[in-house]
Amino acid sequence: MQSGIEAVGAVRGRDTTPALVVDNLHKRFGELEVLKGVSLTAYDHDVIAILGSSGSGKSTLLRCINLLEVPDSGKVTVKGELIGMRERRGTLEPTDRKQVERIRRSLSMVFQQFNLWAHMTVLENVIEAPIHVLGIPRAEAIERAEAMLNKVGVAAKRNAYPAELSGGQQQRVAIARALAMEPTALLFDEPTSALDPELVGEVLKVMRVLADEGRTMLVVTHEIGFAREVSDRVIFLHQGKIEEEGTPEEVLGNPKSERCRQFLSSSL
Ligand code: ADP
Ligand code: MG
Repeated sequence: MQSGIEAVGAVRGRDTTPALVVDNLHKRFGELEVLKGVSLTAYDHDVIAILGSSGSGKSTLLRCINLLEVPDSGKVTVKGELIGMRERRGTLEPTDRKQVERIRRSLSMVFQQFNLWAHMTVLENVIEAPIHVLGIPRAEAIERAEAMLNKVGVAAKRNAYPAELSGGQQQRVAIARALAMEPTALLFDEPTSALDPELVGEVLKVMRVLADEGRTMLVVTHEIGFAREVSDRVIFLHQGKIEEEGTPEEVLGNPKSERCRQFLSSSL
């Protein structure tokens, strides 16, 4: 049975189930309350930029979404599938390991420090998870990897090792690796923060292409220009809460909150 809303989506050829729903997420580390009730919804093709000072909880938010950290309370739903949690000794734990693995596969993360496997070539880095996690035949995984490496402009380096690449090339390989999992959404955690300034542009350019292709992306970034030009929505996180949220014009052009204003003026 389709509800009316879904039927409208179907008529437009669109799936109206959000790619990701985060509902009232809380997380503390000991005494430190890092997330104090964060909620957000990303629909297919949304690019959401997440801004905030160092320590505001941006990485913890992404890590709770793909269950690298288990939230203390709150719900995460990926493509309509609620991640099952149960309470145990005052904290939550996932009820179903298989589901956690599936969710993690569908939310590919790109880290600040690239996290490529140093002992594997570029191509091996990209085919590893599709073969061993998704169970794709090797020949098909190689074909897919080559297409992704082409897309990010590092196909010529397929047989090189990460140490032989620049930071910008390594990060583009990490993006190709994330894409090869055909994820529901991509989660970027300050993907350009570890790069020399002259290498930032080549990575942002690839991310722009992905946004133009309609990929669903959550991007933690300090690149205000990228957020302004590429994102559909901007979230400003302050001390574990969403302090301000809206279109790039609203949040970056005319922020309501003084804290957001201060953050933006210090980021220029
Ligand atoms: P951001 O990414 O916005 O800089 P983080 O989410 O990394 O912020 O961290 C938010 C706060 O939580 C910081 O004070 C940080 O020190 C703390 N924190 C993050 N991860 C842990 C952890 N595993 N154990 C203890 N404290 C942590
Ligand atoms: Mg961080």
